[in-house]
Amino acid sequence: PDTPILVSACLAGIYCRYSGAVEPIEPVVDLVRKGLAVPFCPEVHGGLPTPRRPCEILGDRVVDADGADRTAEFRRGAEEGLRLARLLGCRQAVLKSRSPSCGSGEVYDGTFTSTRVAGDGLFARLLKEHGITVRTEEDLAG
Ligand code: SF4
Repeated sequence: PDTPILVSACLAGIYCRYSGAVEPIEPVVDLVRKGLAVPFCPEVHGGLPTPRRPCEILGDRVVDADGADRTAEFRRGAEEGLRLARLLGCRQAVLKSRSPSCGSGEVYDGTFTSTRVAGDGLFARLLKEHGITVRTEEDLAG
């Protein structure tokens, strides 16, 4: 691609996952190493700490496992990511599957029982609404 791919920062091995785990995905690390991709974490840029309580989408809101409303932080982070995507002219993104921010096509259902439902995370949805193609790291592997 002639413009960089926006990637979920956690896929590049950057410390930002809710659990605090560092889990780089080699094909994504490789894209960043070659200067073809730029990492970004919407939840950290929305003001949330690492580690943090897990969050899921519940209707129009995002809540954490203790029931605290995190919708504002998630929206802020998504908007900051869109800002970066526009600055860079990104047309593609590779985002972490099933995250309430980054998930694309499938997310968890808001019951914190690992139940999957069709849907997008807030960041993935915002990028798609602005014409950016979103894939997951699972698409990249397959
Ligand atoms: Fe990774 Fe996205 Fe979650 Fe940040 S918000 S840790 S980039 S999945």
